Amino acid sequence: MGHIQLLGTGGTIASRGHGPRGSVASDAASTLVPSRYGEFAVQARDVLTTGSYLLDLAALRRIAEAVERALADPEVDGVVVTHGTDTLEETAFLLDLVHASPKPVVLTGAQRAADSPDADGPRNVAEAVRAAAEEHLRGAGALISFAGMIRSARGARKVHTTAGGAFGGGTEVAHMVGERLVVTAMPRRYPALPMPPPAFDATRVDVITAYPGATTELFDFAVASGAGAVVLAGTGVGNAGPGFAESVRAATA
Ligand code: ASP
Repeated sequence: MGHIQLLGTGGTIASRGHGPRGSVASDAASTLVPSRYGEFAVQARDVLTTGSYLLDLAALRRIAEAVERALADPEVDGVVVTHGTDTLEETAFLLDLVHASPKPVVLTGAQRAADSPDADGPRNVAEAVRAAAEEHLRGAGALISFAGMIRSARGARKVHTTAGGAFGGGTEVAHMVGERLVVTAMPRRYPALPMPPPAFDATRVDVITAYPGATTELFDFAVASGAGAVVLAGTGVGNAGPGFAESVRAATA
């Protein structure tokens, strides 16, 4: 065990210029990681260098294809993806849905820029490499490693805007005790979906939220302006306020 492919996509972990004007993704993946971490050999490659709030579906497909290629390499034991935290959970979920290999894919990032005095990126990368090389995490699918906790991509959410432990939810599959990785659970896995085809890039699915006081106007506009589908994120078991049932009936007719 021990050959890890690191794929960089940008995010705060690759950003410099912390301060009032914000930081910008600029660092190459190779600067995030030494070529050897103890017993692990790490090869770094850039897929993108961008803030993850800028990603579109074409970019997500590009990341998924890069991961698929890396997993297919018989020399590679596991893959690490560095990513902005803003949409890390979305990319992680896509990678988990299409993951057909026993090799782990571990996403990580940082809450503080690479040039901040207490950058959390280097530690997060080291732990993600450790997890990606872990024999007992074979078959675990796509994982998110952050601040010493490794959790399944399915069900994980960004739960804090600034705290080091940015992610919660999912199945907690492992955690770090010092330099030691302790595996405690395996997530339930489902058959892999096919990789997204090129038509994925132009798919438009709008997400409309129901909340106290919400009107149907945004929903109606999404339908009228050409959304391929609309997710109406209802309250409770899927309830929504006045008028929504009629708007949904009209849309689905
Ligand atoms: N702005 C960053 C991004 O999503 C946030 C982060 O990486 O934490 O790219």
